[in-house]
Amino acid sequence: MIKLVEKLYETQNLTDSELKSLITAEDGETAYQLRFRADEVRQRVYGKKVFLRGLIEISSYCRNDCLYCGIRRSNFSAERYRLNREQIISCCENGYKLGFRTFVMQGGEDAFFTDDYMCGLISEIKEKYPDCAITLSLGERSFESYKRMKEAGADRYLLRHEAADGKLYSKLHPKELSLENRMECLFSLKKLGYQTGSGFMVGAPFQTADSLAADLRFLQKLQPQMIGIGPFIPHRSTPFAGQTGGTLELTLRMIGILRLMFPKALIPSTTALGTIAPNGRELGLQTGANVVMPNLSPVSVRKKYDLYDNKICTGEEAAECAVCLRRRIESAGYEVSEERGDAAV
Ligand code: SAH
Repeated sequence: MIKLVEKLYETQNLTDSELKSLITAEDGETAYQLRFRADEVRQRVYGKKVFLRGLIEISSYCRNDCLYCGIRRSNFSAERYRLNREQIISCCENGYKLGFRTFVMQGGEDAFFTDDYMCGLISEIKEKYPDCAITLSLGERSFESYKRMKEAGADRYLLRHEAADGKLYSKLHPKELSLENRMECLFSLKKLGYQTGSGFMVGAPFQTADSLAADLRFLQKLQPQMIGIGPFIPHRSTPFAGQTGGTLELTLRMIGILRLMFPKALIPSTTALGTIAPNGRELGLQTGANVVMPNLSPVSVRKKYDLYDNKICTGEEAAECAVCLRRRIESAGYEVSEERGDAAV
């Protein structure tokens, strides 16, 4: 399969059947070559820089019922919380002192966060920290809502498409959610000028090499600036409690493929990857990822943003997480960037 790695490296593309062969290639030589080429491409575009995004998990209330997610509305054992304005601003203050120049506000789809509320919050943060980027990850909203938040100063939006194969999408989501709407949201975000992030889980129940190939094809169509992937990890109080999770090997293979297909993309080495293997995030960085997202949420709520079991970094203060991640980045052979970290053009 080394030939396929080389073809992807040279042409940024493969045929459907080649793509599937590479996705399922489990041999060590392919993994080695993919990592080698992915790192080469990443260093050509971004050098050794790793960008930091301070993650503020603003709410664990969610109107949705995604079957894989620990904060789905049907999980009555989930503890719910919502940060108030002062708490969110104080997370930013804390993050700014730690050197972060991007704040990501992520949460369940919580109706409390109206457009008026979000716009006020976004402009306040922008006024205080004009040199920082604001990223939102609040799920599906209307075109008008995305537009108003963009005008208020939001720079980026993360919305994973989750599964580009319609059949798989409907096995992972309740009937009222549609792949069509998810995709429409993503195209709206791009059109509005957001730096847009999409992505999917690796090893989700019922996912096949065909579905992963469909995910890559969709990303080629969308051309997002950011691509976030991480292993599926079962959550004890969801319908997928008994399913097996995504593996380190497959996740790394997908990260490497993404780097070769999308040389300029910002690709995080995710907390989920660090959860399934102690050195998962370091390996992600060495296989083409160039972003990490340290947790800035107040320690009192960390455990309650409980998307999957055994999530790491739920006990530490933000400063401890920042120090720990800095050390991990450097031990993997890279350097922490103090920049906002916009996508290369
Ligand atoms: N409500 C927002 C944020 C969702 S949480 C939105 O809809 O975009 C962020 C991501 O966590 C999701 O996009 C999903 O891909 C991932 N996630 C949720 N449950 C997970 C699980 N059990 N294992 C791994 N990742 C999960």
